[in-house]
Amino acid sequence: MEFRIDAAQRNFRDEVCRLLRSERSAKIIGSTGRFADGGDALAWELYQDLGERGWLAANWPEHLGGVDRTVLDAAAVTEELHWHGVHDTLHVVTVDFVGYFLLLAGTPEQRERHLPAMASGRSFACTLHSEPEAGSDLAALRTTAVPQPDGGFLLTGTKLWSLWTDRCDVALCSARVPTPGAEPTGADGITLFLVSMSAPGVVVDPVATTADEQFAEVRLRDVRVDAADVVGQVGHGWALLTSVLAIERTGLEQSAKIRHWLDVVVAHARATGALADPAVADTVAALDAEVEAARLMSWRCLSDLHHGALDPAYSAMAKYVASELAERIADLAADLAGADVAVPRSAGATDGGFAEWIRREAPGVSISAGTSEMMLQIVAASRGTGAVA
Ligand SMILES: Cc1cc2nc3c(=O)[nH]c(=O)nc-3n(C[C@H](O)[C@H](O)[C@H](O)COP(=O)(O)OP(=O)(O)OC[C@H]3O[C@@H](n4cnc5c(N)ncnc54)[C@H](O)[C@@H]3O)c2cc1C
Repeated sequence: MEFRIDAAQRNFRDEVCRLLRSERSAKIIGSTGRFADGGDALAWELYQDLGERGWLAANWPEHLGGVDRTVLDAAAVTEELHWHGVHDTLHVVTVDFVGYFLLLAGTPEQRERHLPAMASGRSFACTLHSEPEAGSDLAALRTTAVPQPDGGFLLTGTKLWSLWTDRCDVALCSARVPTPGAEPTGADGITLFLVSMSAPGVVVDPVATTADEQFAEVRLRDVRVDAADVVGQVGHGWALLTSVLAIERTGLEQSAKIRHWLDVVVAHARATGALADPAVADTVAALDAEVEAARLMSWRCLSDLHHGALDPAYSAMAKYVASELAERIADLAADLAGADVAVPRSAGATDGGFAEWIRREAPGVSISAGTSEMMLQIVAASRGTGAVA
């Protein structure tokens, strides 16, 4: 599908960049380095700066906290945050995934209740889909939602791998409404709910991984949700869940992330003189072109989304291509870094240096929002039709 970036879109991106380069933002970004002490809190301040202007959720209508721009403008904000080294997972999951999904599939009341606070950068959301026995095969999820006489539900189960969960106020959670007398299988009964993270019965425990971002296990024990917290129709959540996942797979987050990583690596190679080595220069040039190609694939997905015709197979391909590049950039970073490397925190490095930080983050890029193997399976199953089996 054809798309163009017009002057209005370029101007909007320039305005966002000006804000990100302002004295106040430079201070925030400069000290953010996503894992510096207090850095995350400062990134949240920057979200609020964007939120005050309606730019954090730029494609949402004004009465819901946005500025009525397009998905393409919203994507420009996400890209610029990544490229400026601002830690962006919380914004992406809250606004680009959960919020955007509510905009498309939520009731007017759900939108009014949740979206303005999310757009202001003061309320955050996570997704609770994966479980200990249900990751790639989400239809195996075991969390139950037992109907109550007043139309509400009691949710019980264990969810895994959500990020920044302790910062979140609300979760988009998948659970299964049992069918009396029948053993549930596949998509049967799967329903999407909005769950308050402060509801009685929600227990959040940190999960240790090699990544710097904090993962959580969330245990739900008879967590009460009202009928008004059901997104879509009871028992018809599988198709919605598939569409949420497709939104997560435009490849935008991945391509923006790897562009920032490659820029950090190239800055290091330039500073140390390593870029003068023709072999290094060739590798960098090839990666640079492939990262740009991955970006263009994700922009085609965004254009499809903008036109209301996201092709799940193409977006799986875009996500796959960007994810696999993450590992190659991590390898280059490791080659160039040698034993001890220090880069400024503003480049997003931990004390262990950028090579270590990229190395530890890269595997997560190809696992989150569906593993590379699953992306290939979606592409294969579509047989070029764009449909997902
Ligand atoms: C950075 C990050 C962020 C995440 N954020 C969230 C979040 O916010 N919310 C949430 O709910 N979850 C989140 N997840 C979880 C993520 O969605 C799952 O980890 C992912 O779907 C894989 O599931 P799994 O870990 O259970 O692995 P499994 O599904 O057990 O897969 C293990 C391995 O087997 C392979 N495999 C599985 N099935 C097949 C198959 N049919 N054919 C071929 N190979 C197969 C996989 O590719 C993988 O290599 C996140 C994960 C990461 C790394």
